[in-house]
Amino acid sequence: MLRIHCPHCGLRDHEEFNYFGDATKAYPALTTEPSAQNHAAWVDAVYTRNNPKGIHSEFWQHTLGCRRWLVVKRHTVTHDIESVVIASERELP
Ligand SMILES: [Zn+2]
Repeated sequence: MLRIHCPHCGLRDHEEFNYFGDATKAYPALTTEPSAQNHAAWVDAVYTRNNPKGIHSEFWQHTLGCRRWLVVKRHTVTHDIESVVIASERELP
């Protein structure tokens, strides 16, 4: 079982959280003018994923707790968690 240390609530079972994907992915800007280029950029951002082996940054939400969005750095093989931060307080690349 994975245990995640929510910075607000403390150590909790992963069943209280929902995974929401890759926290390293950059999303294209929202526009009011649809275009094939913008559509392709959104398809890439939403559906194209790497399958990294090692430490990876992921979005999780503490849905059965404080409902805060978190960035969890987790090893994809061992599931060891390196760090957990509130998503809005993380350092952007
Ligand atoms: Zn929490």
